[in-house]
Amino acid sequence: MNLINSKIPNKRPFNLDEIRSDFPILQRLVNGKPLVYLDNAATTQKPDFVIEAIKHYYDFENANIHRGLHFLSEVATEAYETARLKVKEFLNALSASEIIFVRGTTEAINLIASTMEKAKMLKPNDEVIITNMEHHANIVPWQLICGEKGIKLRVIPINDDGELILDNFEDMFNEKTKLVSVVHISNSLGTINPVEKIISISHKYNVPVLLDGAQAVSHQNVDVQKLDCDFYTFSGHKLYGPTGIGVLYGKTKFLDSLPPYQGGGDMIRTVTFDKTTFNDLPHKFEAGTPHISGAIALAIAVNYLNAFDLNDIIQHENKLLKYATKELLKIDGLRIIGTAKDKAPVISFTIDGVHPYDVGTLLNNDGIAIRTGHHCTQPIMDRFKIPATARVSMAFYNTIYEIDILINSLRKTISILK
Ligand code: PLP
Repeated sequence: MNLINSKIPNKRPFNLDEIRSDFPILQRLVNGKPLVYLDNAATTQKPDFVIEAIKHYYDFENANIHRGLHFLSEVATEAYETARLKVKEFLNALSASEIIFVRGTTEAINLIASTMEKAKMLKPNDEVIITNMEHHANIVPWQLICGEKGIKLRVIPINDDGELILDNFEDMFNEKTKLVSVVHISNSLGTINPVEKIISISHKYNVPVLLDGAQAVSHQNVDVQKLDCDFYTFSGHKLYGPTGIGVLYGKTKFLDSLPPYQGGGDMIRTVTFDKTTFNDLPHKFEAGTPHISGAIALAIAVNYLNAFDLNDIIQHENKLLKYATKELLKIDGLRIIGTAKDKAPVISFTIDGVHPYDVGTLLNNDGIAIRTGHHCTQPIMDRFKIPATARVSMAFYNTIYEIDILINSLRKTISILK
């Protein structure tokens, strides 16, 4: 059986009860209360199709890929490469060889930083343009390369609503600018960035653009050809797929010009003790045994999502965002951090006189999972002069009823803490 074409129906209506019943974990109790899972920007829950795909793979198809002539190896190889094709279609890449399976967004960005340095496409004192709202995964990898001198990060500022200020963007380019690397949707603020504009300006200066799509792929259509971005990254676990698998998309001309990231099996064509020649794309970047079941289950997650009309998902998530924003703002002393016009269903907030950690702890007593802290975006906290926020991040399986539970519990929490 080809797992990629498994039991998922081609088209499904947007029925919330049915959708919720696809996710076994949503049926469980936490602290004696029904789980209200509102930490989807950290990781999403998995539908049983994805969970079953992993079991099915190990029950019936497990073998190493690309190496064996035996039946199971051929089946596993076909399933893995079909998964790549599925992701190619999902991102509308030109070719499946532009899809590299990695561990996640973090590894994808490290791969680009490290290989650009090796190829001397990034040298000490060169410049990379990022934004004030990057996840640490799009800050630290650039700081780790090019030795002591390092490279210079030029940072696009943000306004009080958490939107990029692009007025002086063109002035940031000079002969040392080698890459623009920006987050598509902010995990802390929810801001959807005007990436089309950023890409077209960067290309005017012949500078390639990497988009960190970790938060974007689950909330909107991503078409890498239409965007014309040069690299795109995302993590499977934020797209209802498993942890440990992610994707780096790159235009062929850039991937071809970069050297391998790691050495080992599968990424070579010939090896002698004097010299090694490297395999073609995408295998050049996939040294060693990959996360085979992860790639297959990620493709199942993509299939699962594709069965719905994306407009229904977006509409429902917008409804949740609007309702939660309205209800949260009724709470005295609550301030939303991130009020961009164009937002994904992520709401960070602070409450006067109450520490976010205490809010998170007490909500947990009611079975409600939210995130508190800096969300791996410390420069955003500095920008807004706050140590931390509480963050509610929603997915298409969340309900208005769950938002009501959150608001009631939050009111109770505040009355205890104040
Ligand atoms: N970029 C953004 C915007 C994120 O939200 C995250 C995770 O929260 C990452 C990068 C890192 O993703 P991962 O930990 O899956 O590599």
